[in-house]
Amino acid sequence: MEESLKQVKEEGIEKIANTKDLEELEVVRKDLIGKKSKLSEVMQNMRNLSNDERKNVGILTTEIKNVFAEKLDEKAKELIDQKSVLDRPIDLSLPGKKVSEGALHPITQMKYDLNDAFLSLGFEVYSEDDISSEKYAFDNLNFAKDHPARQSMDTYWLEGTEDKEGAERLCLRPHLTGGSVRYLLKHGAPARFVYPGAVFRNETTDARHERAFYQYEALIVDKNISFSSGMVMIQTILEKVFGRKINTRMREGFFPFTEPGYEIDMECLVCGGKGCKVCNHNGWIEVMPGGVIHPNVLRSANLDPEEWTGFYINIGLDRLVMMRYGVDDVRLFHSADLRFLKEYK
Ligand SMILES: [Zn+2]
Repeated sequence: MEESLKQVKEEGIEKIANTKDLEELEVVRKDLIGKKSKLSEVMQNMRNLSNDERKNVGILTTEIKNVFAEKLDEKAKELIDQKSVLDRPIDLSLPGKKVSEGALHPITQMKYDLNDAFLSLGFEVYSEDDISSEKYAFDNLNFAKDHPARQSMDTYWLEGTEDKEGAERLCLRPHLTGGSVRYLLKHGAPARFVYPGAVFRNETTDARHERAFYQYEALIVDKNISFSSGMVMIQTILEKVFGRKINTRMREGFFPFTEPGYEIDMECLVCGGKGCKVCNHNGWIEVMPGGVIHPNVLRSANLDPEEWTGFYINIGLDRLVMMRYGVDDVRLFHSADLRFLKEYK
């Protein structure tokens, strides 16, 4: 019995190897492992065998069946590969497959629109790594040694650098501002540049806050920069992005790297200034903190504060996108939910 099964196996393998096309292969498949194949017949008659024989024959037939199935699949692939694409029947009357179009994410779109607006005002676009250090994120920017933003509850510090300091203590950048000193150290002044990117904060998410979000910062450094020229620039940028005049107001703000600092609020476009959960029910939303660059930051960048001055604006990209589309929950933009994002193609 075992001998004849071995013969079945050898003959079967040879048969598969000699097959010329897919139709013939199907016939061979039925012949070798179909219901009326020799193997099936052997299996059906197994009950007439002794226990030991039944076991051996069972193992052998299963093994042969597996070998056949594998060889048949291999052969099928080989035959399909050999076949010219043009040999297969083509029905030209069938409708084509529609390729779904991709689109830029609304935040990316906003970033590009801002890039265009700033480039038209003579700015350069600069980018930096997501991983920064205590030196660039805090030391250079006039953050006091005990400033709460340095604590791990606000900043994601990288494991393995806890006992280090300055440039060796690494973190995910909690803001973009560190990039400004890096740029100034490399390129010197005068300078006007923007540096968009993702920033990371260790905080609880809600309708207006995310752990990772996008910011867009701009810095001008020059001699005799006036405060009013900064305000004109902010108005120009907002008008270019929203296509109309936007009401803004300015409040005092405090940031270690500015002196003085300010907050620019714009009228909430989600509710039209009536009050909603996005604007905390007061009709205004904070979109652009900024201020005059602090003398200590200029010193970090090897620039003389007697000679140079400048100012920052930091644009909350997520906030501007919420304003542009009147969407009241920032988390929707980060959800990667295509049903939502498709609305903004
Ligand atoms: Zn509102």
